[in-house]
Amino acid sequence: MKNNSFEEIGNIIRKAEKILLFPHINMDGDTLGSCAALCKALRNLGKECYILIEDHIPANLAFLDRGYCTSDQNIVEKPDLSICIDCGDADRFIRRKEKFQQSPITICIDHHGTTEFYCDYNYVDSKAAATGELIFKLLRAMDLPLDREMGGAIFAAITTDTGNFQYSNTSKETHEITAALYDTGIDSNEISVELYENNRIEKLLIKNRALNTLTTVCDGQGVIAYVTQEMLTETGALMDETEGVVEELRSISNVEVAAFLKEAEADKIKVSMRSKYKVNVADIAYSLGGGGHERAAGFTLYCSLTEAFDMITEKMTDSLGKL
Ligand code: 5GP
Ligand code: MN
Ligand code: MN
Repeated sequence: MKNNSFEEIGNIIRKAEKILLFPHINMDGDTLGSCAALCKALRNLGKECYILIEDHIPANLAFLDRGYCTSDQNIVEKPDLSICIDCGDADRFIRRKEKFQQSPITICIDHHGTTEFYCDYNYVDSKAAATGELIFKLLRAMDLPLDREMGGAIFAAITTDTGNFQYSNTSKETHEITAALYDTGIDSNEISVELYENNRIEKLLIKNRALNTLTTVCDGQGVIAYVTQEMLTETGALMDETEGVVEELRSISNVEVAAFLKEAEADKIKVSMRSKYKVNVADIAYSLGGGGHERAAGFTLYCSLTEAFDMITEKMTDSLGKL
């Protein structure tokens, strides 16, 4: 598997007129920020371009959508090109898959280590801290200048996927790209307030409830917590407002691996896993039908919360036992 070059991908993009961009479900700052920056650049080139979504935009990311996002799959009847962004596999845009495949040409731009080449053209770089870094490089290779809005969208992509530059994926290049974004005139504090200091009280209430379920495994090297639909109803919170809980779990001293179980519906449990130094959670996720990065990965289990909890406890005990 060899990546196509940004030049090749740039040429394909230049030839297309009607382009759809596909972020992954449970949108995060990287997928939406990357899509927004690319969408604006392509509209500047005169392309008819939209970001096609299938779920709601989390409130703290709403500022990234300046008329780009639509859930209307017929907005472009016959797209020339589909580009999926930050998506490890086609199940990450499951209800838009058919539309994605309607285009004669597909492109994948991603940074997950577990991603296999599933498009006609692929650029997958697991060393990139965020797909936003790859969009920055693509636009530079295409000689398309970034304006303040595009710079801000890529900044949002990078700051969210690096945990504000603290996770292990953060590199010198991450900072070099970020430094270049300041040349577009971004106000990094303004964007950070939008992203991180714009929470509803319900978000704190659900975090409190979820943290109360905390259980430790292997003398505190592993930690598991969960959120149920009932807890959401009782606090008035939305599921996406539990974002960040799994990182809180990993932040505990001596914790090597953390899992957070989200009861999406009865018998559908979305699991987020994080590790600090050693456990490869991407391997665990991949073996269970999901994917991600070595230190951050996810998957969905179709069983009860109790069954999922037991299974994760076993997986964790297993992987910690091997260290
Ligand atoms: P999160 O736990 O925050 O949902 O996701 C952590 C990382 O794993 C993200 O990079 C995300 O894209 C990836 N990921 C989460 N769930 C899945 C999944 O079901 N399949 C794949 N391929 N990747 C996932
Ligand atoms: Mn993502
Ligand atoms: Mn990402």
